[in-house]
Amino acid sequence: MAENSLPPHSRRMGAGHRLSVLVPRPFDGPLDYRSDRPLAPGTLVRVPLGRQELTGCVWDSQPSHLPADFRPPSKGRVIAFEKLRFITGVLEHVPPLPEDLRRFIDWVAAYGLSAPGMVLAIALRAPAQAGNMKPAMGWVRKAGPLPESLRLTPARKAVLAALESRSPSSTAMLSEESGASAAVIRGLANAGVLEECLMEAPTLTERADPDHAPPTLSDEQAEAAEALVAGVEERAFNVTLLEGVTGSGKTEVYFEAVAACLRQGRQVLVLLPEIVLTAQWTDRFERRFGIRPAIWHSELGQKTRRETWCAIAEGRQQVVVGARSALFLPFAHLGLVVVDEEHENTYKQEEGVLYHGRDMAIVRARLVQGAVILASATPSMETLVNVQKGRFRHEVLEARHGAAQMPEISLIDMKENGPERGQFLSPLLCESIEERMKAGEQSMLFLNRRGYAPMTICRACGHRLQCPHCSAWMVEHRRRRILACHHCEYTQPLISSCSACGAQDSLVPIGPGVERIHEEAQARFPDARLLSMASDTLTSPTAMEEAVRKISNKEVDLIIGTQVVAKGWHFPDLTLVGVVDADLGLGGGDLRAAERTMQLLHQVAGRAGRGTKPGQVMLQSYAGDHPVMKALLANDFISFMEQEAAQRRPGFWPPYGRLAAVIVSAPKERQAEELARLLAMHAPRGEGIQVLGPAPAPLALLRDRYRFRLLLRTRRDIALQPLLRRWLDGAPRKNDARIDVDVDPVSFM
Ligand code: ADP
Ligand code: ZN
Repeated sequence: MAENSLPPHSRRMGAGHRLSVLVPRPFDGPLDYRSDRPLAPGTLVRVPLGRQELTGCVWDSQPSHLPADFRPPSKGRVIAFEKLRFITGVLEHVPPLPEDLRRFIDWVAAYGLSAPGMVLAIALRAPAQAGNMKPAMGWVRKAGPLPESLRLTPARKAVLAALESRSPSSTAMLSEESGASAAVIRGLANAGVLEECLMEAPTLTERADPDHAPPTLSDEQAEAAEALVAGVEERAFNVTLLEGVTGSGKTEVYFEAVAACLRQGRQVLVLLPEIVLTAQWTDRFERRFGIRPAIWHSELGQKTRRETWCAIAEGRQQVVVGARSALFLPFAHLGLVVVDEEHENTYKQEEGVLYHGRDMAIVRARLVQGAVILASATPSMETLVNVQKGRFRHEVLEARHGAAQMPEISLIDMKENGPERGQFLSPLLCESIEERMKAGEQSMLFLNRRGYAPMTICRACGHRLQCPHCSAWMVEHRRRRILACHHCEYTQPLISSCSACGAQDSLVPIGPGVERIHEEAQARFPDARLLSMASDTLTSPTAMEEAVRKISNKEVDLIIGTQVVAKGWHFPDLTLVGVVDADLGLGGGDLRAAERTMQLLHQVAGRAGRGTKPGQVMLQSYAGDHPVMKALLANDFISFMEQEAAQRRPGFWPPYGRLAAVIVSAPKERQAEELARLLAMHAPRGEGIQVLGPAPAPLALLRDRYRFRLLLRTRRDIALQPLLRRWLDGAPRKNDARIDVDVDPVSFM
């Protein structure tokens, strides 16, 4: 490890400096340590904690940059200087965390009531690993003339000659090039001729060329692009919603803003809602800018992760595309953040540190005086309201690019025209698929449900197979021959007799998942080449790339998939999209069910007819009168969103008010309920403040914990965080019972 161990004699009583160090542990704030020399905030250090040693970050002592409302209570006890423990080392070769990133970490923690150390942990995932690895070191020739005393042996000459051609060079590279041994190289270093330095990763230093291959934009596109470029050129914080129908060229348009930012020499971050989309996106980026951008997501290897992290910190890497965790990268001079498909729920981190990637992208950009572009065909209610209030700018693309037309959407009334019992594809939909196949075009069947069947029931006794750890049905996955709970990791092998009454062969699957649709399609279209796309079958980005390649090469007639097929794919020969169960998302009735269903269905519909051939979308539904179906058929989202707004406004539901979910959970139902009731009794009160509940959470049992939910709702002008802090800080700590807070909840499970 690259560390400076501190000589013991310097650890005298009273010597040294007090340092605030944030460590990746769930404390309220940084801890105090002692160091022999002053270290600037941002420096990564090794510190002892209990019997462990951790990588932490030297932190600023006062979070004065946070709004007073957010500020965590100031630290209580100050430890006497003499009692402080010494830091054990400094990560000399890892760039420090820049100030704006430290501010951002504090902000995310304060907003979501998370421990700042746990937010830091996200930012440290790469460099902390780097701290445990020796960075790649190389040799350079020290400046100045050679020392007169130096004996220039042939081996030494060869080393110096090799360094002329490539510098810095690692020991291995040098000895291969020169034929000299490592000892010779070491000898030159000892003689003061060579100097050690960090090897840079050469693949990461290519520059993107903003003028590599710009497209010819339509008038509408050019106008929007100009506005986005202006936003970047202001070099001040601003947010623009780029709203454009599917296939209107939003990517091409925001690429112009990316180009503008590159010309300024500032860095760009592009967030995508799913990592599987990065491959197609990176290809497009390369065609436009001549190089591949850096990619950032949880599945990167350690080495790539470390190199990318350093390259971003040192400003060598200009463009990063990635998942929401890329917000925590140490950009040297970030100028633009793009959030593509900004309405997507996947931007919300639902485990560990909770945060919304879109909202935090805006916070991140504000801290660096950068521009933000939110792109979507179906913007979220939150964003639309911000546009209305004048907080965000708005650019609109009305038409699909080139000859492509919006697809024609129709509804199949399943009450009238449904299939026979036990089947799920209506005759009308099947005929259309048949026609597309004859014409040599591709079709897609969409069902947002993994597995074979969502529920299994015993014909003899009516028993339904349920997860022993959750209030959820076991989902049959026939191909993997298991029953799986979709809320915890529990699985069991398929069984042939009922676990309640013991009847043999009495278990029947109820309802379809994609596997069952695949089976039905196989039976109906025996000659079709089928491809399944579901998050549990295509698990890696490479598997997804392979699937995408097959579709693009027309090796597939019919695609059957879940959520993943709905995303931003561009398949020009895909002309028919069939939605197997358009009503699926409407159940459960949470705040955003209708909005979410509309966005998802519009997005999947948008996969049809993106090339020159017209597209068609068929929605199988039992609820043709529902506002969501009407909006989709009429292609009228504005009215739909207005209706939604009208429902949310009076009760101060988001975005017209603020909301936080408080989940109380415990292994015993009574424990959880008691604590939830106690919380309710001490709930904040006042004008514009309301607490709903407690009530059993929709997922009343999850991983063997019983869950009760309270909702705190306030008017927009009342900050939630201080209310929550005061309320929950006062809550009794009960063994085994836990309180989790979710500010701006997206999921209501
Ligand atoms: P969106 O993101 O709005 O759904 P895309 O940016 O994916 O749309 O554009 C759809 C297709 O049209 C892509 O293949 C894109 O390359 C192409 N396209 C859009 N605008 C242009 C343009 N001005 N010149 C050439 N191709 C374009
Ligand atoms: Zn479970």
